[in-house]
Amino acid sequence: MSDPKTVQDGQVVSMEYTLRVDGEVIDSSEGHEPFEYIQGAGNIIPGLEREMYGMAIGESKEVTIAAKDGYGEVDEEAFIDVPRDRFPPSIPLKEGVELQVSDQSGRPMYARIHEVGDETVRLDFNHPLAGKELHFSVKVVGLRDATDEEMAHRHVHPQE
Ligand code: ZN
Repeated sequence: MSDPKTVQDGQVVSMEYTLRVDGEVIDSSEGHEPFEYIQGAGNIIPGLEREMYGMAIGESKEVTIAAKDGYGEVDEEAFIDVPRDRFPPSIPLKEGVELQVSDQSGRPMYARIHEVGDETVRLDFNHPLAGKELHFSVKVVGLRDATDEEMAHRHVHPQE
């Protein structure tokens, strides 16, 4: 096992992070344990993973990620018009309301009400951060080699 000095594939990276979108904090590790992931395992969005290579413990970085390297561009095909009478009365038909619906095989999917029309409601199945530029502040606070088991599962296991 190599002595982990900087972020490289096969290492468990502990990091503190804050994600801002349009100047607003969307997500942050502040007040929580640092976030842990395996570098090179596709655990985090590709644009951020790429920027993490070579960072040392204690190093911080500001990373700006274009939508296409983050949650993707807005997909026009992901808007679907549904007749108003298909919604149970318990659902407020208002722009921005988030819904869980089932696809044909019963798998849960998430959507937001994009627009409410006279006859139909337009649902948006895009990820809420699709089309957004992401601004991460990251700081590496720990590095260790992933265990063989972690590498096989491609995710971090809690350590003693
Ligand atoms: Zn596992």
